[in-house]
Amino acid sequence: MRILYHSRKCGEVQISPCRMAQAKPGRFAWAKLTATRYHALMDDEFYMRAALALAQQAWAAGEVPVGAVVVFKDEIVGRGFNAPISCHDPSAHAEMMALRDAAQTLQNYRLPDVTLYVTLEPCAMCAGAMLHARVARVVFGAVDAKTGAAGSVLNLFGETRLNHHATLTGGVLAEECGALLSAFFAERRQRIKQSKV
Ligand SMILES: [Zn+2]
Repeated sequence: MRILYHSRKCGEVQISPCRMAQAKPGRFAWAKLTATRYHALMDDEFYMRAALALAQQAWAAGEVPVGAVVVFKDEIVGRGFNAPISCHDPSAHAEMMALRDAAQTLQNYRLPDVTLYVTLEPCAMCAGAMLHARVARVVFGAVDAKTGAAGSVLNLFGETRLNHHATLTGGVLAEECGALLSAFFAERRQRIKQSKV
């Protein structure tokens, strides 16, 4: 298991992609390595933004704004947003919805070569479903200090007694993912306060 925490200000990105392109093969092996990391970081942010757009849809539906996408071979094959209230379904978390969508798209209950992006650290239920689905990699945005099962409360992805493990990356666009949740709860508190006046 590997946990990588990084942000937009990540020290790993040291030179611009333009200078990467100018690097001659062989002579600048370190530069190529950094370029690979740069593109991986940009890919993660790209897909996390797609998950954030889905989180906005959850908010529009009156649900806690969490979104998720499942990516297979650089293509989004599953999308989901938090919808337990509207679906009358306690399992309708963004990750569960995205996993179900991806499984239908790929016509397979096992998803061994996908990466799942979610705006909030997965709970134990969703982490368990990802491990059952054999998801290869999980990328999340903000941490969830109350129910996070990817390192905050417990870490199912690091549980060596389980039969499957996924690579874990946390903190991608964490500020934006967290700010969306904070704004949602602030608005909800304000609405409740006004309804009591
Ligand atoms: Zn969950």
